[in-house]
Amino acid sequence: RTIGQFFDTATREHGSRDALIVRHQAVRMTYSELREQVDRLACSLMRLGLAPGDRIGIWSQNNAEWVLTQFATAKAGLVLVNINPAYRRSELEYALNKVGCRALILSPSFKSSDYVAMVRDLAPELDGALPGQLKAARLPALETVIVLGREPVGGMLPFNALLGEPSSEERAALEVLGETLQFDDPINIQFTSGTTGHPKGATLSHHNILNNAYFSGAAMRLTPEDRLCIPVPLYHCFGMVLGTLACLSHGAAMVFPSESFDALAVLETVAAERCTALHGVPTMFIAVLDHPEFARFDVSALRTGIMAGSPCPIEVMKRVVAQLHMKEVTIGYGMTETSPLSFQSAFDDPLEKRVSTVGRIHPHVEVKVVDNEGKAVPRGETGELLTRGYSVMLGYWDDDAKTRDAIDPAGWMHTGDLAVMDEDGYCNIVGRVKDMVIRGGENIYPREIEEFLYRHPKIQDVQVIGVPDDKFGEELCAWIRLRDGEMCSEEDIREFCRGEIAHYKIPRYIEFVDLFPMTITGKIQKFVMRQQMKEKLG
Ligand code: ATP
Ligand code: MG
Repeated sequence: RTIGQFFDTATREHGSRDALIVRHQAVRMTYSELREQVDRLACSLMRLGLAPGDRIGIWSQNNAEWVLTQFATAKAGLVLVNINPAYRRSELEYALNKVGCRALILSPSFKSSDYVAMVRDLAPELDGALPGQLKAARLPALETVIVLGREPVGGMLPFNALLGEPSSEERAALEVLGETLQFDDPINIQFTSGTTGHPKGATLSHHNILNNAYFSGAAMRLTPEDRLCIPVPLYHCFGMVLGTLACLSHGAAMVFPSESFDALAVLETVAAERCTALHGVPTMFIAVLDHPEFARFDVSALRTGIMAGSPCPIEVMKRVVAQLHMKEVTIGYGMTETSPLSFQSAFDDPLEKRVSTVGRIHPHVEVKVVDNEGKAVPRGETGELLTRGYSVMLGYWDDDAKTRDAIDPAGWMHTGDLAVMDEDGYCNIVGRVKDMVIRGGENIYPREIEEFLYRHPKIQDVQVIGVPDDKFGEELCAWIRLRDGEMCSEEDIREFCRGEIAHYKIPRYIEFVDLFPMTITGKIQKFVMRQQMKEKLG
């Protein structure tokens, strides 16, 4: 089925239940209310002349309008293009032109950036242009610009004007259109996090993301009684597939604490809304657990959630279970290109497996772990992870060369991640191929050293990278964030390692830092750390 067909059935079935709660906007909607708003928006988008397959960009932080747009574009068969909220003028221009967006929905501003001003700089022709008839020299495909809110701003149509009552003919036309859409049509261009370089646009179908959302919810045993707190960005698959779409597919409530991640807002929301589930990347869970006001909040309704996106330290997992009460928390592994999850622990997997692995393979997905020559390695050995099945993207938008690099002729997605699978099918992600350090011919997995250093009582967070070295090819470098108020010397850290790990795994360089370079999705960008160290070490 298409997302639109699924949406109609689910919103009828769960009509009077909470669907959407947005704390920072004081919005609350039941599933029936959500359907009405989504249908109104979908009809308005059709009235603007947007037709199935047309691309429509959304450039915004998390809010209710984003969720309405996600489902309305799916019903109208439009391809929603998630635009990174961190983008600035020239990146926006590039993204809109690259995918040929006919329409753009934007928030007026986010943090300190004035989105309206940036779009007006790119398209001064907005002044005096009628909706649907913009002709901008630098944005040739763009015809309509919609700004969130009630008021038209500088030639942009206000979003709220699209929520008016449609005619019965328009509603009927939406129904008819819904029947013409196919489950394998493209529905979404989602961008990767940009952890290893520029974000890449993965084109995904209804079938890709709806199924993955459903299976991810099933692994958490989501039910209509659940209330999922979503602090991860909607811009990314974590928010819009494992968050909103997973809730829809199990009738659970989507609860947004803030427009972008804020640890205190998460705590307040979980307590006030009695959330039963919470998603996040490990850095978010660390921030919540370490928040100075943590003890003030009752988080005892929590039961499950997904921690994913980057290596999940065992110590953090243990605290999530003990202090956040998430006894059925699951770990997920995946990538934007595979809709996203390929592995996930199940809520009832043994705890020891859930803290130490990313679980077992998702239903209807195939995997293999291969060596440099592409030959499958035995269980217990490390190699690159390949995945295949319904969840593999249609391709990178308008980039056949990159698509061919990523997906081989037999349909295997080359993940670029290193994995080890045990006898029972539980998988461990040991790092990215690009992050592996080869020191004097010895393969070193930074993850292993990070896990070890994590046990140091003064260390809050640690990231290990390789830096170029004349003698050994590469040397290890650790960036360490100490706990608040703690002091520690490089020598203390080395002493902690001696006798515990092999000498060549003891970092040669140790840097104490306050922050790590991070993506909008909360992931640490090791390529930026490597660049900075290269400059520093000359
Ligand atoms: P880019 O592709 O732009 O460099 P990215 O790969 O971080 O960024 P995403 O698609 O958001 O973009 O993330 C997928 C990647 O995140 C995976 O390839 C993997 O490296 C990492 N990852 C996801 N889940 C886990 C996990 N549970 N443990 C370890 N790594 C994970
Ligand atoms: Mg990637």
